[in-house]
Amino acid sequence: MLDQGESPLESMARAFAACNGERFPLDGGSSKVLRFMLERPDGCDAIVSPHAFEIRFGWHPSRHRYFLRIAPAVVSELLLLSGHSVGQAVRARIGPGTVPALQFPAWSFGRRLLWLDHSAEAISIRVRNGADALDQDARALLDPIAYELTFIDFPSPLACPKCAAASLRYRRLSDGALLCASCARSFLLGDMP
Ligand SMILES: [Zn+2]
Repeated sequence: MLDQGESPLESMARAFAACNGERFPLDGGSSKVLRFMLERPDGCDAIVSPHAFEIRFGWHPSRHRYFLRIAPAVVSELLLLSGHSVGQAVRARIGPGTVPALQFPAWSFGRRLLWLDHSAEAISIRVRNGADALDQDARALLDPIAYELTFIDFPSPLACPKCAAASLRYRRLSDGALLCASCARSFLLGDMP
């Protein structure tokens, strides 16, 4: 897919400019990605580099890639929420808050810990659930998300409602949904026909 507009290096330059205090307003796309990063308490690890804007969400171990041109507004808004003007050594508690979004209804998020840093090559962002966190927790926030996989065993094979593949064992995600190993889609037991 051809990405119209600016090149990855131009997007990266704007993301670094956001780290240096330049403001880039949210649009529909960047608001949506920021919502993914903040709305659920599971948190995320994100990296912005000239190669990709890549996010690993706390509820799913795979890495999701987004257009780099989305990153400057995301970085800019995170800094605004954190009260920091510069995107270096940011360890902050943010939220609860509401983000007004063009083209979409405003969305809200709970208390989060935010960790944001940059090197010459990349910007790293970590978001964690901050519901019970103290200021010292924000300062200590350095470890990548650890995925403790939880599995549920069934006494007889259970058919995935999405692809019909049957399995005795399903991985349970943090929101309680079961993940099908055959089609990689998730479903809730309550949604079963
Ligand atoms: Zn399936």
